[in-house]
Parts: sequence; structure tokens; C-alpha cells
Amino acid sequence: MGNLTRRRFMQNGLLAGGALGMGDRVCTAATPTIRRTKLSPVAYEQVRLLEGPMREQFDRNHAFFLALSEDSLLKPFRQKAGLPAPGEDMGGWYTFYADFNPKGPFHGYIPGHSFGQYLSGLARAYAQTGSKPTQQKVHRLVEGFSKTITPKFYVDYHLPAYTFDKTCCGLIDAHQFGQDPVAMRALGPATDAVIPFLPERALNRKEMYARPHKDEAYCWDESYTLPENLFLAYQRSGEVRYRQMAKKYIEDESWFTPLSEDQNVLPGEHAYSHLNSLCSAMQSYWNLDEERYLRAARNGFRMIQEQSFATGGWGPNETFVKPDSSALAESLTKTHSSFETPCGAYGHFKITRYLLLETGDSRYGDSMERVLYNTILGAKPLQPDGTSFYYSDYNDKGQKGYFDDKWPCCSGTFPQVTADYGISAYMRSGPDVYVILYVPSELRWRESGAACTLTQTTEYPTSPESTIELKLDQPQTFAVKLRIPAWAGPKTRVAVNGRAVDAAVKPGTFARVQRTWKNGDRIELEIDMPQRLETIPYQQAGGERVVLMQGPVALFAIGDGSATITRAQLLAAEHASKNSADWKVATATAPLTMRPFAAIGDEHYRLYQTVRA
Ligand SMILES: [Zn+2]
Repeated sequence: MGNLTRRRFMQNGLLAGGALGMGDRVCTAATPTIRRTKLSPVAYEQVRLLEGPMREQFDRNHAFFLALSEDSLLKPFRQKAGLPAPGEDMGGWYTFYADFNPKGPFHGYIPGHSFGQYLSGLARAYAQTGSKPTQQKVHRLVEGFSKTITPKFYVDYHLPAYTFDKTCCGLIDAHQFGQDPVAMRALGPATDAVIPFLPERALNRKEMYARPHKDEAYCWDESYTLPENLFLAYQRSGEVRYRQMAKKYIEDESWFTPLSEDQNVLPGEHAYSHLNSLCSAMQSYWNLDEERYLRAARNGFRMIQEQSFATGGWGPNETFVKPDSSALAESLTKTHSSFETPCGAYGHFKITRYLLLETGDSRYGDSMERVLYNTILGAKPLQPDGTSFYYSDYNDKGQKGYFDDKWPCCSGTFPQVTADYGISAYMRSGPDVYVILYVPSELRWRESGAACTLTQTTEYPTSPESTIELKLDQPQTFAVKLRIPAWAGPKTRVAVNGRAVDAAVKPGTFARVQRTWKNGDRIELEIDMPQRLETIPYQQAGGERVVLMQGPVALFAIGDGSATITRAQLLAAEHASKNSADWKVATATAPLTMRPFAAIGDEHYRLYQTVRA
């Protein structure tokens, strides 16, 4: 679906990238200023995913939403505005249904909630493929939506802040990445429409429950996630009202202030929306230049990592647990709702990108790739009726499945995170190029008037090797910075044109390969992936629970998980066959097959093994 000739190159990645985009402004009321970051993002149009599992997932979601009925997508908005509303009802969370019951089923929970996310996913897909039908669909959806805007939409609406946050994201992305002529203008009345229904400040769930509410679902709104997209709206429009509104919804008192002082206030909080709120902390830091917001985001993210599963996922039953409790270990037998995967992965990619841009710390990239290979890449595809993958299951009797309710939140974040794979793989700093993810892909940019292309060929992490080839109009001097994962072993090596180079290859940093590059130069990277065992955080009593890790990949034991096994047996795992993703572990009885999450279908599996010494 690519249309290479129509692709636009961006001279400066900072202007158009996913994080700090501030390109072509309309009705500039002010000139937004923003803190400069250590690294700068690349633009969607600069990266093309090449054949591989990430490209396949991106293409599938792109095609899925390109084919979705526009009348159905617009139906709840038209119904609420009292306009003719042809087309079929989408059902599930998306549909307008007056007799919603908060005890479930969730039919009619938040009508139209994910419209903005589908729009955003399409706009980002257009930016990287140049697909005209995709852009035209974005424009038609925005035009259709703009005719329905009315405050009536939010009357008796359970989560006005939640849905407005997604709508805002969709409109500013349609403007920025889809060159939509009316989206930014439509955001004005869309904002006016929701204001009467928003609280006076950011409220957490405890505060929501303390207020009068018609039913429980009114207490689940997420006003504390609003600042991120409002700051982006300000950056992209120059309209000061969005900056003022963003400031109003920063949740300082019970969240960012304690986090900035390194107090762990995570336990009991809703997991995904609070990780996502750390992105609001980063935008607050960049826009307001107040250092405590950076501290809040870094501390909060570290605290989440400290309570993450070996897959990189977090928040069993969508809730953060108490540090040093046995809650995570207990979740392995108590729940199948272990990690809210598309939403969690989308937020995780975003916050690790933000923290990487700000700090240049390669370990945020390690965290991103862990979530990529062990969670989202193994998500089952969306079904045409809105049936969605939602939870990854880390129960000892684990199996993949679909969510009961159609068109949930995770149907909205799935196309967004797959559209972000490309911009997550690279960053820049001056003339230098940072390789964050090892994925088959191509990065294009211009330097001193010359066209430059960097092409990655890799089957990582199934194979430890990646090749990076440079195509340059004329020789160029810059550094290619390669992320060396913190777990990488001593045999990790970098070569240029077949000769080992003296780059400082230190796990947990970027290896710097600097030279005057010529057309056709090749970098070969081999990442040593020694096997290791990771224990479950906060383990207190009982048998030790471990995951066998192969580089960034967590290996799941296939079958009923009843095999008795030792640490030594796990660490002696061998590839089942060359180029297979499977590993074999010899046990006292039958050999055990270990498999990465992305290669698992409907078979039963177990993530954490109980080991004897
Ligand atoms: Zn979700």
C-alpha cells in the first residue's frame, strides 16, 4: 500500500515526529516554546518497516481500519446529535445504548470512545505509507465528525474526559500526520462541547467515588491523562487555551508530587491510565520547564519496572501492587488478566520513547523491546466484529484468548502502537543516528544536501545478527549509535565491512560507530544472548518462580506446566532446530518445549516455572 513517490522528507525530525511534533501550525496565537531534548524523534514518513512480523502487524491493522465502515464509526455521534445515522451499529463499548448496566455486559459503555484512536492510527499509517485512500478516509471521517459536534453528546456519558482525550489525539494527528484541512479547527468546538462535563481539576478514582454519581461507571473517568494531548494540541496549533487547559488537569497532589519525591504511590491505582499519565508528566516538563515532572516520570516508570513481569508487562487485574508483597506471585494462580496488552504496550512505547528522547539512556529502549517481543507482537489480530485481544495471561494455566466485550479500549491502542513501531526504532542527535530497535526497516534522511538511507536486515531476536547498510549520495561523517542491551553477553561484537571495530561495546549503553561513511558501507552487529533466569518481583515464600530469558525474549513452557525442573536444566536449553523459535529443555521425564509469546497460538502454556535448586 506504499506510494513512495508521494512521501515527504522532513529536514528536521523534531518538527514532525511522534513526540514533539510542532510542524505546520494554523491560526498561530502564540509561538510555542519547548525544552530541547537530548535526542530528537524521527518522522513517521522517514521510516519504512520491511518484511517481518512488525510490518505484518502494522499492515494488518492498517488494512483493517481502512476497511471499517465510516457510517458505523460515525453512528453514535450522529445519533446523539439527532442526525440521520445510517449504517450498522458496531456494538460492544462503541455503541450508543441508553440502558447500559455497569455490572456488565458492557454494551453501550462509552459510545464512540475509540473513534479518535482509529483516526490517529489511520493518520499515522498514512504518514508512513503515503496511502492516498487512507488520507482520504481520514479527511472524510474528520468532516463527518465535525458535523456532529454538540455538548449533547456528553449528556449522561460515563467517561467524558477519557473519550475527549482520544478524540483530541485523533484530531491533532489527522491535522499533523494526515494534513487534514479542518481537524484542528474542529478541535475548538469539540473542546467547548466537553468542558461543562469535566471536573474542575484532575480527579483520581477515590475522589470520583466520593462525588455523587448516577452509577459506578461515572467514577472510572481518567481526567489525569488529559494534559499530554492538550499540550500537543498547543504545540501543533499555537492556541494558548490548550496549554491552560493542560495545566488545569495535571494531577499534582496525589500523584506527580509524591512521585517526584520518590514516594511509591502506585499500589491500588489503575495500571494503564497511570502509566499513561507519566506521558503527561513528560509533556508538562517539556512545556512548563519544571524539573519535578521529569523526576515524577522517571521515578514512576522505575517503580512500574520494579513490579513488572519478565515479559515487561505489569498490573495484574489492571492494578499496581504493593511493593514487597506477594501479590505478583499470587496473581500467577489467581487471575488470567495479567497485562492489559495493546493499551499497556502503547503507553509503554510512548513513555520509553519520551524518556529516551530526554535522557538518551539506552535502557529505556531495552524496556521497549521487551514489551514488543513478549507482549504486543503476540497479540491475536482484531476480528471484523470488534472482538479484540486484551489481556496477556501469565496464569500457571495460561492460554491466549479474546476479550468478552467488542470494541474495547485495546481495539483503539492496537492500531496506534503498531503505527508507532517505525518511529520507535530510530532517533537522531545532530548528524548522528540512534538505532533503538533491531527490526527490518529503512530510515531515510537528508544531511548536508545528500540523501541518506540506512537499511536494517535482521531476524533478531530469533537470530543474534543484524546488518545495517548505508546508501549515501556522497560520503558523510556521523556516528551510528547501536543500543547494546544491558543483558548482552561478552561476545557482543560490531564490525564494519567485515572488520571488527573498536567501538566501546558496553551493555546498557549505545555503542558509537563514528566514521566518514561511504555508499555501500555495512555494519554487522552480533548481540551475545546468554540465557538467564529472572525471578518474579517481591517473591517472599514458597518455591522459587523463574522465567527463562533468551536475550529480550521470555520463553513460555508449552503444555500443562507440571514438569519438575531445575535451574541447571532450564539454563541448558537448546534451540529445537536451526531458525526455529522453539527451545528444548531436558527434564527428568519428557523434554519440555519452550516458546516465545509471539509464536504461541491456542496451546496452553506456563510463563513462570517453579524450580528446585
Ligand atoms: Zn485496553
